Amino acid sequence: MSEDASRLARLFAEARRPVVFTGAGVSTESGIPDFRSPGGIWDRFDPDEFNYTKFIGSLAGRRKYWQLGRTIYPVIRAAQPNAAHRAFAELHELACLDCCITQNIDNLHQRAGLPADRVIELHGNATRARCLECGAGFTRDEVHEWLERGVDVPECPGCGGIIKPETVLFGEAMPREAMEEAERRARASDLFVVVGSSLVVYPAAYMPLYARDAGATLCIVNLTPTPYDDGADVVIRGKAGEVMARVPHEVRALTRGG
Ligand SMILES: [Zn+2]
Repeated sequence: MSEDASRLARLFAEARRPVVFTGAGVSTESGIPDFRSPGGIWDRFDPDEFNYTKFIGSLAGRRKYWQLGRTIYPVIRAAQPNAAHRAFAELHELACLDCCITQNIDNLHQRAGLPADRVIELHGNATRARCLECGAGFTRDEVHEWLERGVDVPECPGCGGIIKPETVLFGEAMPREAMEEAERRARASDLFVVVGSSLVVYPAAYMPLYARDAGATLCIVNLTPTPYDDGADVVIRGKAGEVMARVPHEVRALTRGG
């Protein structure tokens, strides 16, 4: 384990534009269940019942969505950043992280201290919501409170429009700006470290390919095998928090030593 940390630390210390890419494995260590895993939300509920078309298309679709959302959001809100989140924030402070591209929607990278402009969210953010009509923004806390008070389908207080969480729903287009920015950063990186992602959800999983095609060193830190392991320069089988925890410390030692 410490050998893995040293190896990663050397790579982070030597890279000019290191980028990390995080997935559900980083969130599960904070107690947020992997929605797509066996026994997870989308194993117990049919994702088609909660897709974008159903949400936009009918009041009944939105009611169903918010019923489920009302049970999931408190779990996200109660979660605390873990050692992996803290390590990324520290690497940024050490000027050893260009940005974090994430598939996670829990806001934990930001809560660990990584500046928001360094977090590229490919699947949105569950702590915010927006009116699709007038664009007014709301915190999810605010919307959650409405639900708790008995509102079953939140509407915009200003214009009566549909309020949608700022997460990407099944069947919804990916956020264009975030996708373009992520691709640009991936192609410009010289070190691309995947942490806690099985790399099976597309188009997010194209990012490591963009990086590798552009010549970056590709590292994969994940508990289970991924389709890209064979093409990676370094593969570490382990838990995100356990592997990442010592990396900033070792980077500090390396950079201090000249
Ligand atoms: Zn509105």
